[in-house]
Amino acid sequence: MHQLDRKLARLVFDECRRQLSLDEVPLKTGGDRDRLAERLAGLIGPSGNDPEAVLSVFLRDIAPAIIACDTPRFMAFVSCVPSKTSILFDMLVSCFTLHGISWLEAAGPVAAENQALRVLADAAGLPAGAGGCFVSGGSSGNLSALLVARDTGLSRRGAQGAQGTQRTRPKVALAAEAHISVSKALHLLGMEPLLVPTAGHRLTGRELQAALAREPHAGDVVAVVATAGTTNGGLVDDLAGVAEVARRHGLWFHVDAAYGGAGLFAPTVRGLFDGIEQADSVVIDPHKWLFSPFDCAALLYRDPPMANAVHTQRASYLDAIHDDANGVWNPSDYAHHLTRRARGLPLWFGLAVHGTDAYRDGIENTLTMARYAADRVAGAEGLTLVCEPELSVVLFQRDGWGMDDYENWSARLLADQVAFVLPTSWDGEPVARLCFVHPDTTKQLVDEVISTIAPALDGVSGAHVLIDD
Ligand SMILES: *Cc1c(COP(=O)(O)O)cnc(C)c1O
Repeated sequence: MHQLDRKLARLVFDECRRQLSLDEVPLKTGGDRDRLAERLAGLIGPSGNDPEAVLSVFLRDIAPAIIACDTPRFMAFVSCVPSKTSILFDMLVSCFTLHGISWLEAAGPVAAENQALRVLADAAGLPAGAGGCFVSGGSSGNLSALLVARDTGLSRRGAQGAQGTQRTRPKVALAAEAHISVSKALHLLGMEPLLVPTAGHRLTGRELQAALAREPHAGDVVAVVATAGTTNGGLVDDLAGVAEVARRHGLWFHVDAAYGGAGLFAPTVRGLFDGIEQADSVVIDPHKWLFSPFDCAALLYRDPPMANAVHTQRASYLDAIHDDANGVWNPSDYAHHLTRRARGLPLWFGLAVHGTDAYRDGIENTLTMARYAADRVAGAEGLTLVCEPELSVVLFQRDGWGMDDYENWSARLLADQVAFVLPTSWDGEPVARLCFVHPDTTKQLVDEVISTIAPALDGVSGAHVLIDD
């Protein structure tokens, strides 16, 4: 295999350089199954291929068969918009084959990752002892945190059901707006949801209190999940109110800030997060709105020894990494994983190089664009803003449109390479959704997208017209 090292290094570095030098990556439209199958057919067999030929399959057929997320034109879901700094450093993490399993094997990378985790913990106002690890995504973070909530919650509340009630499966209180990965985690963990009805799409302390009062098995509720930045609407739950009720009832307080957590760095919305400092566990995805590459989610615990006791994997071959000398910190002891790459390092490098102010400015710019889009919608005849954006998601309706219309609009914008937008639903109604996380989003681009759906502007000159200036 080594015969090709030199040639491959040149080929691959050239492509990396070419990709990194693009000012704006093209959006593209996804892939065709038959074409992909045809191009890949027979490629892997006992003997290899010319590396240039394989690379060209990648460049011609694989890489273009996507919808690119690292462009401001990607406004669906929650995009991943890594800075070039973090992408470059991610290449370095790969080149050094850095692992991030244990202090024994990876003290340096773990110390640096923990420095980045500390920045996030400080932003959330968590105590000095808080800590955790980087996991692959918010889903993994929610699962790992809720395992700790389950195991510590049940022992904290005693083996018996409260007040002699029949013990049912442990329950976790959450609102319908909680991310679907939370429901999946509960399913995996053998727990059940206690669905808390919400009036305004945000979970409040009062609603949680009322749900607990109505619940016949309230003694089996071990945790509550609040969302700081719902994925669909970008709303932040009443964290302080929920924290207060959680404390009163001895519930584990988990905050899923996978998308919204970046808002902790933005002064214009920081107040929405008050109460997060009381969380027992928090998840924040730097691969969403903190300009880091896939796959990177920060999982923080207020009291890491609790998580350590639940997650540490004991096996004779692993005794060496648990040789508890002072200062030993094994990321593998804080989630359901063992082997992991040092995936927090691109964030660490970006924070160290640019400083937190640069992150603040990037996040504030996306918030400004969301507010600008909301203003444009509110001022456009035939469009109705569903609610004022709290973070960087804007929901709105075009009068008289059904889901088909939104889907056609979405397809047209992608075909025209204007933007990738997807409709969603809100209170049972189809709505348009724009999610901004790219720091280079401009007012011009917002205008361009809104002009494609504002009826007063229909037919003026199609998809690319600007509303003004
Ligand atoms: C995206 C998201 C998740 C899931 O995170 P992944 O990184 O996709 O696993 C969980 N919770 C919220 C609120 C999210 O927005």
